[in-house]
Amino acid sequence: MNVAFIGLGIMGRPMALNLHKAGHTVFVHGRRPESMAPLAQAGCTACASAAEAADQADVTFIMVSDTKDVEQVLFSEGGVAHGAKPGSVVVDMSTISPTATRRYAIDLQARGIDMLDAPVSGGDVGAINATLSIMVGGKPEVFERVKPLFEAMGKNIVLVGDNGAGQVAKACNQIVVAVTIEAVAEALTFARKNGVDAGKVRDALMGGFAGSRILEVHGKRMLDNNYQPGFKTKLHQKDMNIVMETAKELGLALPTAALVMQHMNALMGTGDAELDSAAVMKVVERISGVER
Ligand code: NAP
Repeated sequence: MNVAFIGLGIMGRPMALNLHKAGHTVFVHGRRPESMAPLAQAGCTACASAAEAADQADVTFIMVSDTKDVEQVLFSEGGVAHGAKPGSVVVDMSTISPTATRRYAIDLQARGIDMLDAPVSGGDVGAINATLSIMVGGKPEVFERVKPLFEAMGKNIVLVGDNGAGQVAKACNQIVVAVTIEAVAEALTFARKNGVDAGKVRDALMGGFAGSRILEVHGKRMLDNNYQPGFKTKLHQKDMNIVMETAKELGLALPTAALVMQHMNALMGTGDAELDSAAVMKVVERISGVER
């Protein structure tokens, strides 16, 4: 199939490469020419604009940063909407606002273009190994058309519901991850303040109901005081902002998620934006005067 890929960062680059490796003809566009170079070397076609790439594709993928970036890539001059042909599909795999996503789907539909939202989890390792979890919103028949392409990039691929439902699922994922990080940070700090070995506490908890991937992976980062990302605090904070704005639109209180977001805000203020979001532990330690 002819596919276009717009946004060639940490995630987009390996995802585009996996589509190419699966035998598809891939047209790429990145804001900076140097981001396209490794893909052009691998055999993809570099395009001068998103519109030029989309013009040649049956399916156009977008993997950029935030809601405003997707809007720009779609609708600005030289954007996807000005190149994509009626009957083609646009798949946004960035993590952005569900509300804006529904609006974009309506705008594209008016031009005869179908849209899927398909945010992912699994990080750069999942993107490289084609093992991403992909949460999809859109029409079932459009999902079926694009599914073989998703299978070149991920493993657990679920159509969650209509347009926006994929983004809602991703927001739910980020709430659970954030709140669990906070719980693990508080529990390990509680252990240490009691003079008990926090590492042994983690070992003891792993087999019971408190066991989780977050206790395992993020808990280890906290014990080691090593916050190499992983998933950067600035991206997790961006995602919690999407959660909070959507909750506000709905008149929905999410008190625990809101508290964790405040801790992420504090990390942004102390120059820790690039650290893994398990660094919420640093805030928990700081507010109780726990030193290491
Ligand atoms: P990244 O490395 O910062 O890449 C983002 C790419 O989008 C960059 O190449 C950037 O271009 C491009 N871009 C941003 N704004 C643009 C605009 N307005 N117009 C054109 N291009 C634009 O980020 P990433 O880690 O790949 O993340 C991409 C998305 O996946 C985000 O929504 C993120 O939340 C989500 N995500 C990330 C992870 C992860 O572990 N990293 C995991 C799951 C989901 P430049 O290179 O020119 O800046």
